[in-house]
Amino acid sequence: MPRVALKPADLGISGWSAVLPARQAQAALEQDLECDYLVVGAGFAGLSAARRLRQLEPRASVVLLEARVVAAGPAGRNSGFMIDLPHALASGSYAGDSSQDLRNIRMNRAAIDFAANAVAEFGFADEAFEASGKINAAAGRLGNEHNQSYARHLEALDEPFEFLDASAMRDICGSDYYLGGLRTPGTAVIQPALYVRSLADALTAQAGCRLFENSPVQEFSRQGDAWMVRTETGSVRAQRVLLAVNGLIESFGYYRRRLMHINLYASMTRELTAVEVAALGGVERWGFTPSDPIGSTVRRIDGSAGPRLIIRNRCTYEASLSLPEDRLRQIARDHRRTFDARFPMLRSVAMEYCWSGRLCLSRNDVWALGELEPGLFSACCQNGLGTTRGTIAGIIAAEMASGRSEPSLIPDFPPQAQPQCLFPEPFMTLGARSLIKLKEWRAGREL
Ligand SMILES: Cc1cc2nc3c(=O)[nH]c(=O)nc-3n(C[C@H](O)[C@H](O)[C@H](O)COP(=O)(O)OP(=O)(O)OC[C@H]3O[C@@H](n4cnc5c(N)ncnc54)[C@H](O)[C@@H]3O)c2cc1C
Repeated sequence: MPRVALKPADLGISGWSAVLPARQAQAALEQDLECDYLVVGAGFAGLSAARRLRQLEPRASVVLLEARVVAAGPAGRNSGFMIDLPHALASGSYAGDSSQDLRNIRMNRAAIDFAANAVAEFGFADEAFEASGKINAAAGRLGNEHNQSYARHLEALDEPFEFLDASAMRDICGSDYYLGGLRTPGTAVIQPALYVRSLADALTAQAGCRLFENSPVQEFSRQGDAWMVRTETGSVRAQRVLLAVNGLIESFGYYRRRLMHINLYASMTRELTAVEVAALGGVERWGFTPSDPIGSTVRRIDGSAGPRLIIRNRCTYEASLSLPEDRLRQIARDHRRTFDARFPMLRSVAMEYCWSGRLCLSRNDVWALGELEPGLFSACCQNGLGTTRGTIAGIIAAEMASGRSEPSLIPDFPPQAQPQCLFPEPFMTLGARSLIKLKEWRAGREL
């Protein structure tokens, strides 16, 4: 029986989960079960797959196995931008290939609609999801050039946008740091941990859908016409299994040496006092993505956790999927420095949380998605935009596994190439790390 080699690991506690009220996790699997569909992993892909399966086959039994508690992994560690527009991380300004960009926009919007429908159907709290649009913030000349070039690309795609000058940026965020911004209307911004928690809890409140947390899959094998999947204390026999574990699909023995694992890092301040909020100025909630993809993402939130700022920057390439324990100490210093440069009036405000999380990319920017073996499906490798692309992967894998002939919710989904093989080591790691260092150095004030 193939063994699953690795358990998920990320460093630090995600502020997004920490500021939420305590939640009672579902029990771990401690029995032998049978079901129609087993979904492994309860992130964006796994939860979207479970929801789509229940839409297609309301009578089907669906079991979800999550290695940790819901939102402890990357799904609850990200910056929460569900972006509709081209978001090619490898390009200077996010612009991709125009012919594919139009299709990608339609797919991303279908995923955002799927999320918005869940929010409305199950009645999530307002702060879980907001269709607010986003701003690509430019701190220097280079950033402004990226915004100009991205705007030309949006014009060619006939997509609306608006330029903001330095004073408009200051009115929003309270800081003089930014020279300008490019606002686009179609992005939704989520409180990621609240969104995935709410979706998991809503799905498992339905008869026929069960979630077991703290239940890492350790072994799986084909037995007759079904799959047998084992955790330490239980097993599930299922007709069809969907692996929605993002980069950890490698630990199941698939796509080895075809996936790149990038760690991103974020910090969240403690709650700001009324005096600090007044000193900061600006509006209550906003979200800036960097005009240079390697730069800093910054958000201000003001919900049940009070007013806080979150900054995300720095990224590292790891061939091994694990991180040195002391990595966060250096990153926390970088976060402090880049935060203080933007918000000198908040120098005394401590960062309460600092954490890491993983992205999974392929060299040719494709999903690791499809039927791996009869009845075994993959919904992995979201290429950086996991909130939307993970949702798409989950929907598509569910539709494939179900085999129903209803029209797809993602009608434009193209046939997928395989993720390309990585370069041999040590060249892959050396090359990826050098490229990241060069891009971070070039980013200057955008970082
Ligand atoms: C700091 C940061 C900022 C980011 N910002 C954004 C952003 O603004 N917008 C955006 O779109 N994306 C962003 N991302 C990326 C996004 O978080 C990921 O792409 C997304 O979470 C991928 O979703 P997923 O469901 O495919 O995988 P994951 O969220 O990784 O979920 C996979 C789940 O599988 C579980 N699992 C793994 N192995 C097993 C096993 N053996 N048994 C059972 N369960 C298992 C894991 O515990 C995990 O919960 C960011 C990421 C980070 C770290």
